[in-house]
Amino acid sequence: MENKLKTLEKEVLSCKKCVLCKKRNLPVIGQGSFKAKIMFVGEAPGAREDATGVPFCGRSGKFLDELLKSVGIDRGKVYICNIVKCRPPKNRDPKEKEIKACSLFIEKQIEVLSPKVICPLGRHSMRFVMERFGLSNNIDTIGKIHGKVFKGKNTVIPFYHPAVAMYNPNMKKILKKDFKILKKYAN
Ligand code: URA
Ligand code: SF4
Repeated sequence: MENKLKTLEKEVLSCKKCVLCKKRNLPVIGQGSFKAKIMFVGEAPGAREDATGVPFCGRSGKFLDELLKSVGIDRGKVYICNIVKCRPPKNRDPKEKEIKACSLFIEKQIEVLSPKVICPLGRHSMRFVMERFGLSNNIDTIGKIHGKVFKGKNTVIPFYHPAVAMYNPNMKKILKKDFKILKKYAN
């Protein structure tokens, strides 16, 4: 498994399959345990992630850490990545064709790590992951389906993106409540 992920890492580092390769500093491949039961899938790297190559290491990352801590899950025991590996300029939304171009990498990560549950963070990632796992018919707004458990080809539990909650105490509360479901999947 480690070999496969090393190969993937090399492929991402030299990838020029979409325009995002031009302005990125470092691609953000993924981080976490190879034995992870839970995989979080964010959208795309931000400035801090682009500078370090580490997913969710900026402000939203801090809140994700807080969420994990609140349910007693060690960040080192999960796997964290994004659908798009390179930072879109000025943090714009990734375009459909960029998501498509990059999807091969997340496909490989899912295949190699084979996590018990996949948790998309935010609506873009929710759409991608649910389509990928045969759950297209269950797609609704993130406001309706956050925190719900879907069983397709894999278990999928979508959450709000931590960034939307950082300055919104009510959203924070909702995310904290939603994260409780993860306790039973963590080990
Ligand atoms: N937001 C994301 O979606 N991913 C990151 O890695 C950081 C912020
Ligand atoms: Fe390649 Fe993905 Fe980066 Fe585009 S975003 S250059 S497809 S690694």
